[in-house]
Amino acid sequence: MNSNYDIVIIGAGTAGLSAAIYGVRAGLSVLVVENQMHGGQIINTPDIVNYPGIEKISGYEFANQLYQHATNLGAKIIYEEISDLNLLGRIKTITAGTQTYYAKTVIIATGAKHRDLGCSGEEEWKGRGVSYCAICDGNFFQGQDVCVVGGGNTALEDALYLSKFCRTVHLIHRSKQFKASPMYVQQAQNTNNIVFHLEYEVTKISGTDQVQQVMISHKGQEETLSVVGVFVAIGSQPNNGMFSRWVEMDKYGYIVAGEDCKTNIPGVFVAGDTRTKKVRQLVTAAADGAVAATGCANFISHSFF
Ligand SMILES: Cc1cc2nc3c(=O)[nH]c(=O)nc-3n(C[C@H](O)[C@H](O)[C@H](O)COP(=O)(O)OP(=O)(O)OC[C@H]3O[C@@H](n4cnc5c(N)ncnc54)[C@H](O)[C@@H]3O)c2cc1C
Repeated sequence: MNSNYDIVIIGAGTAGLSAAIYGVRAGLSVLVVENQMHGGQIINTPDIVNYPGIEKISGYEFANQLYQHATNLGAKIIYEEISDLNLLGRIKTITAGTQTYYAKTVIIATGAKHRDLGCSGEEEWKGRGVSYCAICDGNFFQGQDVCVVGGGNTALEDALYLSKFCRTVHLIHRSKQFKASPMYVQQAQNTNNIVFHLEYEVTKISGTDQVQQVMISHKGQEETLSVVGVFVAIGSQPNNGMFSRWVEMDKYGYIVAGEDCKTNIPGVFVAGDTRTKKVRQLVTAAADGAVAATGCANFISHSFF
């Protein structure tokens, strides 16, 4: 197998596969290195209903179409763990499996993972009431009672967003103080259908074929809330530890880059959920992939290789 590529993309999620499509279409040779299954976070989501131009599609089908599109155009995908990496040289090296690959440019597209609550029932009810994305799943709960768990900006933003169409939004936070900006807290306090439960932890999620209730606990006293949706918003974790010695990261571990997807290292780009950005969605991951691959093409045509 060829070991020299114009672009090596690390991660075959929406950002990585979109970058592969744009890279190949720009006439470049593209290798994608994936350490699990192509498709990324979206693969288990039953219904995507907010990707422009596609009214409804399952995560599996979406991921499969992206994969077919990229590989039919000529992108190569390998499924290997990266064991060694050097991003600094004019030619970057990536060792995966038994082979070392040489790349003029690299796109990091390794995504992120949401943090789990870790309470009883969470795993069982994932996708059947337990969600980690209010923008993605909120609409399924129109006119119903839901809860949001967390105290940062995402939790408050989620609660405010859901309050527009859900009947009641219970905001459950384990501390008295919020990490969220005071502006969001004030807006939530002024919203009639948001009910605060401070210094409460979720201990159990239960239901029949869909979530029906959560048990919350305050200093050992338990209460039950009747809700059909549980939005967990206690943060996410980027999958990019292996790059920390090379690229600049913010205090939460996201790779620092603007809308041009450039990192601090020439020829190294970052796309999708693993970079600093406001909106982490499929459409923004796909957009990053396009921008990063176009950035690679420009970098190659303006560099001496
Ligand atoms: C449950 C859920 C539902 C969602 N629903 C929606 C929705 O309906 N609509 C929407 O727009 N967004 C939705 N999102 C958000 C959306 O899934 C993400 O914004 C999007 O997947 C980000 O794409 P990405 O390519 O940046 O990252 P990912 O999808 O996370 O892909 C990253 C890829 O990199 C791979 N990888 C990680 N580390 C390595 C490594 N070291 N070496 C090689 N490969 C590696 C991973 O295995 C993965 O395949 C949802 C998210 C979740 C969790």
